[in-house]
Amino acid sequence: MFKVDRRRMLKNIMLTAVAGASVGQVRPGSAARQQQKGPCKLALEDYQPRSMLHVPETKVLRSRFPAIDFHTHLSWSNRRGSRNELHNNATPAEVLPVMDRKNVRIMVNLTGGYGDVLQETIRYWQSPNPDRFIVFTEPWYEKIREPRYPQFQADQIAWARKIGARGVKILKTLGLYLREQVTTGPLVKIDDPRFDPMWDAAGSLGMPVGIHISDPEAFFLATDRFNERYEELNAHPDWSFHGKDFPSDRELQEARNRVIERHFRTQFVALHVGNSENLPYVSQLLDRYPNMHVEIGARIGELGRQPRQSAKFFDKYQDRIMFGTDAVPGGYDTPQQIFGDPLYEIYYRFLETEDEYFDYAPAPKPPQGRWRIYGLGLPEKILRKVYYENAERLLKL
Ligand SMILES: [Zn+2]
Repeated sequence: MFKVDRRRMLKNIMLTAVAGASVGQVRPGSAARQQQKGPCKLALEDYQPRSMLHVPETKVLRSRFPAIDFHTHLSWSNRRGSRNELHNNATPAEVLPVMDRKNVRIMVNLTGGYGDVLQETIRYWQSPNPDRFIVFTEPWYEKIREPRYPQFQADQIAWARKIGARGVKILKTLGLYLREQVTTGPLVKIDDPRFDPMWDAAGSLGMPVGIHISDPEAFFLATDRFNERYEELNAHPDWSFHGKDFPSDRELQEARNRVIERHFRTQFVALHVGNSENLPYVSQLLDRYPNMHVEIGARIGELGRQPRQSAKFFDKYQDRIMFGTDAVPGGYDTPQQIFGDPLYEIYYRFLETEDEYFDYAPAPKPPQGRWRIYGLGLPEKILRKVYYENAERLLKL
């Protein structure tokens, strides 16, 4: 692209020089026209600047210590008509060789679903490879209208544990999509008391709750020229929670905090660092709630552009931070999540090296925002905990 443009520009300069006599003649796209009308316009989506910095590039093929990827989506439960169906994003035979190459000992498949789908997910991933795959369950939200839902949901968690699920996953469905009549009516709050028996069940069964609520702060602002995620929101307009009846980012965070406070015997893992753009806020919460932990999936773009604050955060909370990637095999519309060697290499480079100003996603353009990141160069003691030991303890391995 750059080469072609450069060649065309040179050709235009040549033509202008040759036709030097024909003063005043304007050829469309020619250098003469550029001189007359100022710089040419370039569409934002076509802009792919390349860094001219001469800085070290370290290739980290394997993590320094074996890793547990705490945040992956090897499968989804897809709604088809009146029932849910398991949709696998890959096969174990496709995933295991990548894990071996990248030193990933265990992958946690958070989106295991519930009921029949959960059973199938466990049978497909976890049962044949119990040392490599762990499956979490999800709430059966469609039943929320039923009067006995609170106890039903708690019983489902107990049943899920019995058939092998190791934790509970909460998608941002809770707080941003689930409504009183499932898809219509007012939004159901994260701290709705109907879920209290479920949180308690998870706690008493030793199942950690991986909870994703809210999203980057820019998703709650207008998608306009001031929005730092303008291109990402343009590519995924349904990720915008600006306006309508959506709660603010802070309201969602505080509803989750009330749940963590109320269910202090349950271990909560705030996925995506909880609020990776506001580490002072997350630090306050970690200080306040001993049953809260965080995971870093899909947020190295945020952590890596505030490397000094992030390094202090990793140092102070080294026993409460978990490695995760939010990997989706074949997730091509979200380059920052495509499962494969390049994804892990970027995370390892971020955590282990002091490299500067590199891409946070394997993509020609930074997909979440126009910035690059800096490595943290974490010491071995912290790496060991973040890669493996913190998750090992929480999952009771
Ligand atoms: Zn995820």
